[in-house]
This record gives sequence, structure tokens and C-alpha cells, in this order.
Amino acid sequence: MASAPLSFFNSLSRAIEPFSPADGHTARVYSCGPTVYNFAHLGNLRAYVFTDTLRRTLALKGYAVRHVINITDVGHLTSDADAGADKMELAAAGLGKDIWEVAAFYTHAFKRNLANLNILEPTLWSVATDHVPDMIAFAERIAADHCYEIDSGLYFDVSTVPDYGRLARTVSDEGESRIDPVTGKRNPQDFAIWRRSPPGEQRQMEWDSPWGRGAPGWHLECSVMSLKYLGPAPFDIHTGGIDHREIHHPNEIAQNQAYCGCTDSTPAFTGARFWMHNNFLVDRGGKMSKSAGGFTTLFSLIDAGVHPLAYRLLCLSAHYRSELEFSPEAVGAALTRLKRLVMTVERLAVASVAPSDPPSPAVARHIDRLDTALGEDLNTPVALTALDEFLADKRLSPDDRRAGLDAFDAALGLNLLRLTRPDLRLRPVTASISEDDIDTRLEARRQARASKDFAAADAGRDALVADGVEVMDGDPLGWEWRIMLD
Ligand code: AMP
Ligand code: ZN
Repeated sequence: MASAPLSFFNSLSRAIEPFSPADGHTARVYSCGPTVYNFAHLGNLRAYVFTDTLRRTLALKGYAVRHVINITDVGHLTSDADAGADKMELAAAGLGKDIWEVAAFYTHAFKRNLANLNILEPTLWSVATDHVPDMIAFAERIAADHCYEIDSGLYFDVSTVPDYGRLARTVSDEGESRIDPVTGKRNPQDFAIWRRSPPGEQRQMEWDSPWGRGAPGWHLECSVMSLKYLGPAPFDIHTGGIDHREIHHPNEIAQNQAYCGCTDSTPAFTGARFWMHNNFLVDRGGKMSKSAGGFTTLFSLIDAGVHPLAYRLLCLSAHYRSELEFSPEAVGAALTRLKRLVMTVERLAVASVAPSDPPSPAVARHIDRLDTALGEDLNTPVALTALDEFLADKRLSPDDRRAGLDAFDAALGLNLLRLTRPDLRLRPVTASISEDDIDTRLEARRQARASKDFAAADAGRDALVADGVEVMDGDPLGWEWRIMLD
């Protein structure tokens, strides 16, 4: 078991605090999941590379992990602050499709993305629409003391809990007034627990409740499912993107306080001991977002010939609490770095025998560096430097290398022991030329050069360029050729 200290930045205290699971053994972690009305974009996926790193770090420390990710298939409105239309209903209407089909399609696509990024499956996926009776039961328990009814449904009165918005630090009512303000709310930050279907309007997803036919508010599902599967509260860690620190998580905390009847806002009563948030992936236009459109998906990156683990490596190259800028150049550089790592591993003679347990002192030193870096609030950039230093250490035996690579792969999820150079050469979907074709023509060019027919060799090269293939003579990575992107 790794022995360096483990500490995480807790958004509740805005400080780095030592961490161990409350029961000393199993870390209980809840991650806010995707709203499945569209493909996840690369920004969303950054949130799950972060939780995966968290999970792998906890395992490196010898803890068991019980990890829940939810699937939001109901309730998330076009504004996080409970205004506008339901994103799922809107998407289904736009596509002219059944809402359940839309949810199933994008849930499946999301799970494929996680597999592409070598993100471990959670212990449990929990789907919001499978938990509507639980949500109604939760709401019934808090309704009398914390909620009030207006025409549009049952609302939570944020003045009924201590220190509402403490997690956000600044309570914002932006968004409330901008889009479709709800009339009759007592405080601008009050939010829907149950949204009654407007008279005469039938939603594709609606249920009966003590407050009329309708659908649950978005924030309710996470309080209900985290408590159900990770309780009793407080569980250990709750994660999400930094946007959730402003509205969604303060609202979850308010619901949790109401449910437990707590009279103060210390972490023990917020529902989780640690609240952790990843910063945004941004591009030239600002924060990548689904609703703004024009976002990049992992599928589009793969279609352009970029291996998905290059995106994982790009994420790891920045600390999760820093903004990360996405650009084709940045992901291209990450792909080059990944190729270099794979080539280095291929060159090292890695023993196929089982590594010694415990690892030899020579390899243990490198694993300690990895452990120290990840233990310091998941410092992945430093962990990657530790990986480079480990691969460059010429004194290690083949068995040591194998043992070290096992540990680095387990912690960083880069799959270096399995990836091969051909795996990394993805064919862009727009490429019209096959790899066999390229190989045949390159061989002809090699022969022309060998017989000093440079005119033929140059013509062969120009013909390949015309077909979208760059010939890379003398490439230090030994890559020989690549298909050029538009
Ligand atoms: P959503 O599907 O919109 O509910 O978001 C899923 C997760 O992605 C949440 O944890 C969000 O906070 C997170 N997220 C959304 N946009 C970004 C972004 N541009 N960069 C990083 N995380 C994001
Ligand atoms: Zn949530």
C-alpha cells in the first residue's frame, strides 16, 4: 500500500485537507453524471477523467471505493437555476423522437466515451427516472418545514436552512431573472422540488405526486440517490464540475440539511465530507458547453484520427483545478507525447514474468514519487514527470520496469503496457487511402531511392501528398507517415 500522505482541496473550506475514508476502509464517492440529451463534449469528459484519477488514487492508497455516477434523464432545465424548459423534453421534441429513446441513445454514447478514455465503470450507475418514488418520499419528508406550493409546483425555501450557499461563497441570482422567471417564489434562489405539468400540457415524462402530476426538480435526484446508495450521510466525497459549486451543489446541500433536520452547516451536515470540483475545459470561445453548440465530442476527435487516450493525457497534463485550454494543436501535442511514451515502452525489454511483490527498492522509489504527487491533491502534471523519470531510469531491470509500469498504468490509466504504435495510428474517417496502399507506395519509393532514382522517389512522395498523406522522412519518432487533417 502506498504510504505518502493523502490530501484533497475541499471546496467547502477552500483549503487542502488530509483525507481518509470515514470508516477507514471504503471511500464512498458520488459524481454528478451527464444530462443525456446530447453527446458529452470534451469538457464534460474532463470531469470524468478527474473522478477516475481520484478513484485510481484512492485505490493506490489501498482503499476500496464505492463509486456512484448518476444519469440525469429528467428535470434538468435549460438554466441550472430552475428556469426555462426541460432539456430532455426539448431535445426529444427537436428530434421528433421518443424521450426514452433519446435518453437511452445518449447514455450508451456516454458509456462508450468513458470506455474509450479507459475510465473505470462506477460501482453503480443510478438513473434518475428509476428513482421517482424515492424522490417523492424524500420531498414528503421535507415539504412541511422547508417547502411551499405555488402554481408551478413545490419549491424549496432556502431561508429555512442555515448558511444557504456557503459552498458557493457568493449567492448569485443571475439566471433566475434572465430566463422565464417563476412567479410567486419567496427568495430568488428558491428552487423546484416538484414541477407540476402546466394545465393542458402533456409532458413525455410525468408522474403523479402529492403536488399534482409533473416531474421532479433536477437537484432532488442527487440528494436522494447519494443518500440511498452511499448513506448514511455524510459520505466521503461528492464531485462535479466547478459550475455545480454555484447552484446545483448548494441546492443539494440545502435539501440534505432539511432531510437530516440539521441546525448547522458544518461539513458533517452537508451530505458529504468533501466536495471536490474540476475546473473548465475552455476553447477560444470560452467554456465549452453543450447548450452553446459548436462543441467538440470525443467521437469527432477519434474521427479526425486522434486516439482518445491522447485526450486523457492532455487532461492529466493540467491540474484538475486549473482551467485547461483545448485546441487541435494542444491535443496534437498530447498525441505526440503519447506516441513517444508508447515507443519508449516498446523499446524497453519488459519482463513478462510476474513482478516481485513488494517491488524492489529501485522501482519503489519511482512509485513513491507517483504516490506523493497524486496524494497532493491529485497533482497529475508532477505524476507525469515521475513517469518520464521512471522510463528514463537505465538502472532498472526488466522486472522492475514491468512492476513500475503496472503501478503507473493502474494510477494514470494510460494503458502503456498494452498500447502499440499501430493502435495510435487512427485513420481519419475522411481519409480516402488505405494503409496497405500507403505501405505499397512507400515501399516503391524506398526502392526508387535505393537505386538513386530520386525523380521517381520525389514523384511518389508528391503523389502521396496529393492523396492526403505526409511522408515523414527522418521523423525522430520513426512514424514514417501520417494522414494530414484538413
Ligand atoms: P452535464 O451533462 O451538463 O450535466 O455535465 C456533466 C459534467 O460536466 C458536470 O460535472 C459539469 O459540471 C461538467 N462540465 C460541464 N462543462 C464543462 C467544461 N467545459 N469543462 C469541465 N467540466 C464541465
Ligand atoms: Zn448532481
